[in-house]
Amino acid sequence: MHPVDLGDGVRAFFTSGAGGVSPAPWSTAADGGGLNLGLNVTDDPARVAANRSRVAGRLGAPVAYATQVHGDTVLELGAAERDRWAGEHPPATAGEGDALVTAEPGLGLAVLVADCVPVLLADPVARVVGVAHAGRQGLLAGVVHRALDTLVARGADLARVRAAVGPAVCGLCYEVPAAMRDEVGRAVPETVATTRAKTPGLDLPAGVVAQLSARGVGAVRVPRCTLEDHALFSHRRATAAATTTGRQAGIIALI
Ligand SMILES: [Zn+2]
Repeated sequence: MHPVDLGDGVRAFFTSGAGGVSPAPWSTAADGGGLNLGLNVTDDPARVAANRSRVAGRLGAPVAYATQVHGDTVLELGAAERDRWAGEHPPATAGEGDALVTAEPGLGLAVLVADCVPVLLADPVARVVGVAHAGRQGLLAGVVHRALDTLVARGADLARVRAAVGPAVCGLCYEVPAAMRDEVGRAVPETVATTRAKTPGLDLPAGVVAQLSARGVGAVRVPRCTLEDHALFSHRRATAAATTTGRQAGIIALI
């Protein structure tokens, strides 16, 4: 668990690949204990539920997970969801979307990732928090902007909003075709990168930080690369090894 400080009355952290009950390949340790929080990666749903319970216990609140589709839909959750889920397991999905926002204390929000960028957002004064799933497609779709818009609609002031940009694949590792780098770079120039192998790359975390900065929002960036850091799940590392892997999460709640 990697805690981040997003202000008084806000609890926020990023999980890693360990601390749960899943075996390899849904664990970053060969001997198991994996904290896979993703349901769509062929892990046993009962183990995923056990892992999610551990995260809820750590947070001290039920946690909502969306079915992420690389789009820009924001789901707003409130007292009805918190009351329905209090003392029991939340449903497997809060709905289809790539951002969650709530002004309700005691209700956790999760964003699942394994190379894409997990973004946590909070205005501790207006008491509203959000998460966003920003991969290459989400970055282009504007999911970070839609999440910020929703926070503002709930009373947030962008000058007060604090953001954490969590572990994701870095620009030295994320190799893409030149045409793809050009396409993303036209929309978000800060993403343009060159990999260690001197091939075209994309720095998605830098792109997210730039999108936040353009709205006047300062971000804390967790300087960990999912592909290089074997304590974290990486979709690209797993694909290169012809296997599957788990999903870690960014988690936030008002307390
Ligand atoms: Zn890297």
